[in-house]
Amino acid sequence: MRLADILKNKGSVVYTVDPDATVDQAIEELVRHNVGALVVCQRDLEHGEKPCGIITERDILRFVARKDRSPSDTKVSEVMTKNVFTCDPSRLVEEAMDIMTQLRIRHLPVISEGKLVGIVSIGDLVKAELDRLEMENKFMRRYIHS
Ligand code: AMP
Repeated sequence: MRLADILKNKGSVVYTVDPDATVDQAIEELVRHNVGALVVCQRDLEHGEKPCGIITERDILRFVARKDRSPSDTKVSEVMTKNVFTCDPSRLVEEAMDIMTQLRIRHLPVISEGKLVGIVSIGDLVKAELDRLEMENKFMRRYIHS
């Protein structure tokens, strides 16, 4: 199974935030959409939304633990991870799982031909694997009993 198959079911909605938004605003978006990460995008008149970072619950936790800045006075660009790892939709689910495990990240934006076409979380990948195993199990049982 490939990331494109997951996106077919899940859809291509990616919640984004502007690098100049405040950390407070990012927290509001994370809570409103019930997600763990926002892709930070610069709005470019020519190319639309261009990813320039990612901010996740982990970044917010680290920020809060520092206790030296207020979330309403700090920009997303100061807290986000700038070097975003992304994947092509043609990548296999197993490959994406390996990347996430090695990099210790739980979110992978999916980019096709330079455009942001979706995002997969570790939860999406685990669900896809469980569905596959369940299906395999069903076929094996049917085969054994036939
Ligand atoms: P996560 O486990 O996804 O909450 O992220 C853990 C850390 O890795 C945070 O500092 C994130 O900003 C960063 N991170 C998450 N996903 C990515 C990604 N696709 N590319 C680069 N950094 C990421």
